[in-house]
Amino acid sequence: MTLRAGPLRSALAAGLAAALAACSPMLPDAPRPGPSPAAPGRPEAPLVGGLINRPIDGGTRSAVLREGAELTRCVAELTAARVSFSPTPDRVDSENCHQIQAGLLGADMGTVARMNPGQPKMTCQLALAVSVWRRQSLEPAAREILGSDVVQIDHFGAYACRNVNNGVGSTRISAHAQAAALDVAGVRLRDGRRISLTEDWHGDGPEARFLRRIRDDACRIFGTVLSPDYNAVHHDHLHLEATDTRFCR
Ligand SMILES: [Zn+2]
Repeated sequence: MTLRAGPLRSALAAGLAAALAACSPMLPDAPRPGPSPAAPGRPEAPLVGGLINRPIDGGTRSAVLREGAELTRCVAELTAARVSFSPTPDRVDSENCHQIQAGLLGADMGTVARMNPGQPKMTCQLALAVSVWRRQSLEPAAREILGSDVVQIDHFGAYACRNVNNGVGSTRISAHAQAAALDVAGVRLRDGRRISLTEDWHGDGPEARFLRRIRDDACRIFGTVLSPDYNAVHHDHLHLEATDTRFCR
């Protein structure tokens, strides 16, 4: 059930918009304290740089959507938080497959956790969501529950031109076809331990509690999050999708 709505670009046909229309349960966002009203006649100044360093709250998901919607502002958020992101030229591979407002997610100078493989290509919005998750969920959760630091995030990549579930039993377009979803397989800790969805999801030990915590946190950051609780296809990864959808399991 990997449904998505946006970001829909003017360059795309209206038919694509219809095909991608989300039918996930939509819930109202919690109100988020906004900036003080701007002086009359002056545009509201963007609050750039605070999102990645702010603890997750009821406004995080909508803030990621808003700050990630426009490339310049999205890159400014990442740069201000010392996260490396190198935009790549927009690319349309087919009617349903494109990489728009995408780039290479590099190192986060504010953390020790690195992506493996390095420099995955994804939308800036997804990079923003991953960066919030890395700093505000993965790292504190690992220290609290596992007593060590995350040094590596193992993933299966973001961009793939395909339908959901690799096309098995579905013709819906996956968010991976727009580089808007990342599949995370697990993490490695400074003390050498490796935590994986495949090995550690089930049970009630600290590893399982850690994985459930970072899944639950992800649900407050990303639009759609799919874990092994969802179906067998996701037995070995968390599907983290930065789109204007609302589904978490
Ligand atoms: Zn996925």
